[in-house]
Parts: sequence; C-alpha cells; structure tokens
Amino acid sequence: MAHPKDGSGTLRPPTEVLTRGFDPSLSFGSARPAVFRSSTYVFASPEAAQRAFDIASGRVPAADGQRAELIYSRISHPNAEILEDQMVPLERGACQAAVFNSGMAAIMTAFFTFARPSSSIVYTIPLYGGTMRLIHEFLEPFGVTGVPVVAGDTVGLEHAIRSARNLSIVFIETPANPTMVMTGIRRAAGEASERHPKPTVIVDNTFLGPAFQHPLLLGADLVLYSATKYLSGFSDLLAGAALATDPAIIDQMRSRRVMFGNILQPDECWMLDGRLPTVALRMNRQSKNAQRIAERLFSKPQIRRVHYPTLFDDDEQIRIRLDQCDYPGGIFSIDFHGGRDAAFTFLRNLRIARDAVSLGGVETLACHPKTTTHSGMSPEEMEKAKIGEGLVRISVGIEDWRDLLADFEQALEKI
Ligand SMILES: *Cc1c(COP(=O)(O)O)cnc(C)c1O
Repeated sequence: MAHPKDGSGTLRPPTEVLTRGFDPSLSFGSARPAVFRSSTYVFASPEAAQRAFDIASGRVPAADGQRAELIYSRISHPNAEILEDQMVPLERGACQAAVFNSGMAAIMTAFFTFARPSSSIVYTIPLYGGTMRLIHEFLEPFGVTGVPVVAGDTVGLEHAIRSARNLSIVFIETPANPTMVMTGIRRAAGEASERHPKPTVIVDNTFLGPAFQHPLLLGADLVLYSATKYLSGFSDLLAGAALATDPAIIDQMRSRRVMFGNILQPDECWMLDGRLPTVALRMNRQSKNAQRIAERLFSKPQIRRVHYPTLFDDDEQIRIRLDQCDYPGGIFSIDFHGGRDAAFTFLRNLRIARDAVSLGGVETLACHPKTTTHSGMSPEEMEKAKIGEGLVRISVGIEDWRDLLADFEQALEKI
C-alpha cells in the first residue's frame, strides 16, 4: 500500500508498527486495516495494465519507493503489503519483508532462491525438523551438498564456511531447539563475507526474534520466521516471513513466491497484522516469566539440568549470549534424572501447561522432544544434539508466573 506520512525513519519500532504501511483513506477511513479478499484487481486503463505487467515482471523499474500496481493476489495483495510494511520496523536493520503461508514456505523459498546447482549449504544442527527434511529429501537429491555443524561449535562453523566447496548458503538456527545452545552469528557472517561469491547467510530467528535477537545487525543477509510462533502469538494461524536489509534479496524471493504460489492469504495477513503491535509486550512477559521459573526449578532434586540462557555455564555460550541476545526468551528445557518415566509423569500431571508441540503462544505448552518434535532424528543426531529421554521443552506463556511455578512444582512432586 501507499506509505502515508512516513519514510522519516525517526520513529521507534513500537510507534512505527502502528503508524506506517496503512493509509485509512484507502479503506473508507477505517482506523484499522480492512480485509481485501479479491483474487484480481481492476486496471484504470489498458495502458495501466501493460505498465503493471512490465513492472511486475521486472522489464521496467518501479518508481522510487513505489510498489507495483496490484494485478492478481498470488503476486501480491493489499493485506500482504500492509503486513510487510508494518513488519519491517520490528526487525532491526530490515528494509523489506515478504510474507509466506507458513514458516516452512519461507524457508523453502529461501533455499530455492539462494541454493545454486552443485553448491553446498553449511547448516547448524539440530535444525527444525521440517528444515532438516527439506535439506535431506529435496536439496541433496538435487545435487546440493549439506554440511552440518553442531550448534555452538564456533571454530567448526568457521572452518566449514571457509572450506565448503562452492558454498551458496550458511543456514543458522539459534538458539537450538530444544537445548537452547547458541551459535554466534557475527563470526559466521564475518567468515562468510571472506568468500567470493559471498554465500547468503540466513538465520531462522523464530525463538528469540524480533524482540531479543537482531541477526541483520550482526551481518546476516536474511532473517526467516515461523510467524506461527511469537509473531502471531495465539496458536491460531500459520504464517512465515522473510526480512532483509538489501531489498534485492526480498525481491528475488517475491519473484519465486509468485511461481510457488505460497504468499500468505488476506485473512491471515489481517490477523497477523493485528498481532504485531503486541509482539514485544508478549515476548517481554514470556521471557520474564520463563527466567523466574527456570531459575527456581534449576535446584530441584528431580532435575538434572535446566537449559536456559541465563543458566549457561560454558564460557563460549555465555560470550555468544551476551554478544547477540538482549533477553533470554520464553523457552526452557528441563532434563529429568528419571529419564522418560519422569518426563512423562511430569507432563501427565501438569494442570495449567498443556502437552502440545509448537511454541510462542500466550498459553504455556510443554512437550517431550525425543518422542515428538525430534523423533525423526537418527540416534546419532539425537546424541550429538543432546536430546535425551528425560528432556521436556516448555514454551512459557503470559499467565502469572507464580501459578505456573506452582503447577510445575506439584507435577514434580508426582515423580
Ligand atoms: C515452527 C518452526 C518452523 C516451521 O514453521 P511453520 O510455521 O510451522 O511452517 C521453522 N523453524 C522453527 C525454529 C520453528 O519453530
């Protein structure tokens, strides 16, 4: 959509997310965006239609700062444009955004935009299960070589980036799910910038962004989200997003998006758009809750270890956390002494927290990664990623932390 009274770049993100990207005069004065469900858009004249196609296909450049005229909703539509413009100020360093119909759609589009034939991709493990399968079941059979590096291995990652043959992508997911092990973005991006042609450095920022971790400021080229999680925040829609400093990166992904047909639909854009102004509020509350609970559970006799950024004991992990994260975030994992029995007993006895996968919603969720989210990993991969029988992942919501702590304590006593 048009950019009303903005472009100044002087407003702070919580203000800008409420003021840019949406012009009420284009929606009958509606104070909040309307939903435009049309699949096709009327041209003012045949000449305007010709011009719209010339711009959309890249034959003619769009006027400075102007979007191409609307044509057909698989290419773009008003709610996607409003959402994309409003998302930009939330991601520090971003100039452009593109939205997709799931996190996997954003990830898949990034791979199919930036991976070259016969190239290699360096990636951290563990990765989100869907991303891992995309690499193994699609990219590798197409001749792309995957080079895994264990999360947090700074020297190993630098070495892999330096030595991988015909490197097209560095893909980092940090912190790792569910152990919260962090990978340093700054050093990986620095190493990648020494290579020619430069690989595209991509960060899946779902766990700590956009509130607490800013990969574009640390040298990453592209940030991806499962917006299904914190950005949306209510466990009631699927969406994905890509953000970059260089508009050319997003333009290339948008052009693939037209071919793949995976733009986010108008209703979902509208719902997600309404959630953006509260992302930072929700994430701050979730992080404070999680920190208070994790630091109190840590000394319980049934618990071997609580994986949470403020409880790191490794010097390199502490260094990375201080360098790249503003706050520790809303997710922690508990490793029980009693293995699977203890983990299942704990899950069975929770009264407030529910046993479900996914994360980032306002309600607290808990799951057993080994038998659910991470069950597709081989025993060796599980071993490397330190995903054991006794591990339970918790995504903390915005309930009162004292009620949640009491719930966890009563479930612990049943073990
Ligand atoms: C959920 C998730 C994804 C996949 O996103 P969908 O919206 O479910 O497609 C990718 N990466 C991470 C880290 C996730 O948590």
